[in-house]
Amino acid sequence: MARVHNFSAGPAALPEAVLRQAQAEMLEWNGVGASIVEISHRSAEFMEVAARAEADLRTLLSIPDDHAVLFLAGGATTQQALLALNFAGPGQAVDYVVTGHWSKTAIKQVKPYVNVHVAASSEAGGFTDIPPRDTWQLRADAAYVHITANETIHGVEFRDTPQVGKVPLFADFSSSIASEPLDVSKYGLIYAGAQKNLGPVGVAVVIIRRDLLERAGQPRAEIFDYRAHVARDSMLNTPPTWNWYLAGLMFRWMLDQGGVSEFARRSAAKSQLVYGAIDSSGGFYRNQVVPAARSRMNIPFFLPDQTLTARFLIESRAAGLIGLKGHKAVGGLRASLYNALPVSDAQALVDFMREFQQRNG
Ligand SMILES: *Cc1c(COP(=O)(O)O)cnc(C)c1O
Repeated sequence: MARVHNFSAGPAALPEAVLRQAQAEMLEWNGVGASIVEISHRSAEFMEVAARAEADLRTLLSIPDDHAVLFLAGGATTQQALLALNFAGPGQAVDYVVTGHWSKTAIKQVKPYVNVHVAASSEAGGFTDIPPRDTWQLRADAAYVHITANETIHGVEFRDTPQVGKVPLFADFSSSIASEPLDVSKYGLIYAGAQKNLGPVGVAVVIIRRDLLERAGQPRAEIFDYRAHVARDSMLNTPPTWNWYLAGLMFRWMLDQGGVSEFARRSAAKSQLVYGAIDSSGGFYRNQVVPAARSRMNIPFFLPDQTLTARFLIESRAAGLIGLKGHKAVGGLRASLYNALPVSDAQALVDFMREFQQRNG
């Protein structure tokens, strides 16, 4: 068996060491005589796994005590809807900054509940930039300001935390969390589906400034209530125990590798390799995002025509590189360079790109 170079946008590659540990513990976890996924979420053993995962994530991201951490099913999209139900009154104004596909999804999920105000949008320019902060039209009465820290499909990333004044800043960090140091205290809420940078699909991490939990929000079932989830340590109902455990292995691996500053270094190295290959190709490969807003995690790129794109996908697959097809919303190709992807994989992609150009350019 040969593991390939995996550039999938999500679910995405996991470190081989994490998969091997999960494999070794699959039948029998730590003397329990059963798999961790076969025992109660309320057992002492699982509670320890859960607490350890939270403690490791807090260390990894330097999460202050005045922020609660949740591990929830439902992915990032469910959290997008819950933001409005928990933190805005019925019909209250909310500010959204639109920088790509996932910003639009976030709006779609809250439209039935709140008055969505687009504070800024880069859609007219084809989502190739972040609208400059001084052009944003923020409302003083907004319940929160929402940004998408990294646009997984359009390949646009905020490189700084925007200042938004007194209104709390909420951010979708699904595809860039833990890829560089982050000042969590600047955010009212951070959420991320785990399946890009944090581990397996099936669990989302939500980091909430505790004072915001006192907001009334809107009429909602208890299962949609973050306050209830916090009060029960994410065990209001059966949590996705396997996914939580696997994410915990990934957190530990990231700490062992040197933490977020090390992943920032690797992310810079990987993305510079790929953008370098694109920019030095004389226009054979193209990426349309303005350099200052280019994502370090997801790099959409394009060849001169569809025939070459199809050939690139077939030949890269044969060379052991998978997951390079662009999202259908934008087409072309896309390389995702999440934390689990080694720098050597980015180098393998760049070598293939150069060689492909020599044969087809
Ligand atoms: C993948 C992704 C989502 C959707 O996540 P689900 O877990 O499928 O709901 C939302 N936002 C961003 C930025 C993403 O990359």
